[in-house]
Amino acid sequence: MSDPGYTVRCREYAEAIWELEEAGIPVRQVRIARWLGVTPVSVSEMVRRMQVEGLVLIEGEIRLTEEGRYLAEVVVRRHRLAERFLSEVLELPWAKVHEEAEVWETMISDDVEKAMWAKMEDPQTCPHGNPIPGAGYQPPEMKPLSEMDTDEALLLERISEELELDVEMMRFLDENGLRPQCRIRMIQKDPYGAVTVEVGDRQVGIGRFASERLFVAVEASRSP
Ligand SMILES: [Zn+2]
Repeated sequence: MSDPGYTVRCREYAEAIWELEEAGIPVRQVRIARWLGVTPVSVSEMVRRMQVEGLVLIEGEIRLTEEGRYLAEVVVRRHRLAERFLSEVLELPWAKVHEEAEVWETMISDDVEKAMWAKMEDPQTCPHGNPIPGAGYQPPEMKPLSEMDTDEALLLERISEELELDVEMMRFLDENGLRPQCRIRMIQKDPYGAVTVEVGDRQVGIGRFASERLFVAVEASRSP
């Protein structure tokens, strides 16, 4: 592990594998390649190297070992803390912080991490509603936007990490006021999974890919 480029890549891969698992996507080499925007050949080399280091197991799907999972959770935690810090403390545009946090996550020391926790008074999620590992977040019951009924109005709780990877998508969501805790009313659903929703005073069309990756909190039904 003396090669610094390798160490950085190792963290990125562990993070990607962890996030694929979080999103419920089968962790295969081709999915990792797409997630990271690299070639399948580089993934297969890297995954093999990580297997030798004891960070992953390859059993059809790729799984993190205990050591790999620990590494991934440090990176994901620092990424989501950094996003929160950048948007809450430095007031950077909400849709931009994911990109910036990709750099920050690699530079945060134990001491800086501790100071961030204290400064932000124990945040539970990133500004997009994704849980910070180790924060003890208790998520409400959620469902994807695509499963809302017509006329139902619920609060947006979470924008999945997969959408965060797409800068254009984040800009679109931001421009249309689709951010955690906004109220969304389902206007119309088409048979192919695209939806039209009402957010504030505007109607927004959302394609199937995004509507399956935006999560709303299901309100506990009132007891009779
Ligand atoms: Zn985020």
